Amino acid sequence: MNIDAHSAGSELTADEAGARFLRDFAALSMIGRSAGGGVDREAGTIADHESRAWWAGWLEANGFDVRMDRIGNVFGLRTFVPGAPYVLLGSHLDSQPLAGRFDGAYGVLAAGHAARTVAGRVAMGDITPAVNVAVVDWFNEEGSRFSPSMMGSSVATGKLALEEALAITDATGTTVADALKPDATFETPLEVANYAEIHIEQGRILEDSGKTIGLVDGTWAASKYLVRVHGDQAHTGATIMADRHDALYGAALTVVAARELTDRVTAGKLHTAVSTMQVLPNSPVTIARFAEFNLDLRSDDEDVLEEANRLLQEEFARIEKTARVTIERTLTHEWGLRSYTPAGVALATTAADAAGLPASRILTVAGHDSTNMKDVVPTIMLFIPSIEGISHNEKEDSTDADAMAGVTMLAEVARRLVQGELWNGERYVLPTTEG
Ligand SMILES: [Zn+2]
Repeated sequence: MNIDAHSAGSELTADEAGARFLRDFAALSMIGRSAGGGVDREAGTIADHESRAWWAGWLEANGFDVRMDRIGNVFGLRTFVPGAPYVLLGSHLDSQPLAGRFDGAYGVLAAGHAARTVAGRVAMGDITPAVNVAVVDWFNEEGSRFSPSMMGSSVATGKLALEEALAITDATGTTVADALKPDATFETPLEVANYAEIHIEQGRILEDSGKTIGLVDGTWAASKYLVRVHGDQAHTGATIMADRHDALYGAALTVVAARELTDRVTAGKLHTAVSTMQVLPNSPVTIARFAEFNLDLRSDDEDVLEEANRLLQEEFARIEKTARVTIERTLTHEWGLRSYTPAGVALATTAADAAGLPASRILTVAGHDSTNMKDVVPTIMLFIPSIEGISHNEKEDSTDADAMAGVTMLAEVARRLVQGELWNGERYVLPTTEG
């Protein structure tokens, strides 16, 4: 049988649909491919633009109307019921530097394939739609080049002002607006009924428990800081130790203190990290006058997070005295321990049973675009297993069987959403799609 790009997903057997997904995913994974088998597609780079163009081409070839909003989110629309809102499915194509090919991109392509399958079944009269379906690549979920993370979905949910986001610069001074050249192409603003996203777990809970699908029912809470340590330049040799105000020494003590906070609360309840460092003047014979770095704290217990923040404050005071520096910290991004709508978790549980996929409830430690979307519409978040829990690494991987099972699962969820099973009659208008 010769199947062209427009043919309905429902004409394919599960094996044929799975093989097509894997073929498309292999093609997408070649864009920005790194020597170690991962990808390097930071937001707004040439590789990111190439992946976005590939996505737009895929959407067009598969019968979607392609639109871009004012913060560079790339949408594909399939309209069945004019005037009705859309069930939105998506994730992100951008990556961390030298990252894996699954993080985000898997969910974008799975969304496209699931939506195409549903549209095929609508065309065959197999499904009676109550709402329409749209898919999205959210701009700059990773936040590695332009901070904060989850930028496209933050602007789309009204948490970050559009003009503020467009003016944010990378380390070289390039603005988001320059990197993106966004332009609104919606004739009528996009109205959303529900959102669903599938992503790799990036942990090892599913793999360890032998489950194929994670039904995400809540998020870990997070506090993210930008920390600046102010000291004074001096000679690395000639200045006596008692006279030094070493900013890098203060930063180093903070890195250690943040790590050791995790030993001061119940085991496993707190994750902390410092993962960047800028030092001035960064010269071999000069004591650093300044150091700047990020600091993340995350917990599945808001009381633990609050305690960690309090202990951190004590550590800052101690380190300021020890290193004879001043420490300035700015809270750049935070979110609480929040639930996904229980009705959505119930719908996904029923869908996993119907698809015959072993599933269990799970919390997400990482932030996702769904973390934003769940605050404006009833939202479903799903995981597939990550091999050994490896992520933000070229070795990040999932099995073909799990990748295909996730697409089947998302298509079953999308079918139910398009039939209106989770729609409460309300519509959220994405502000980035207005004028
Ligand atoms: Zn991601």
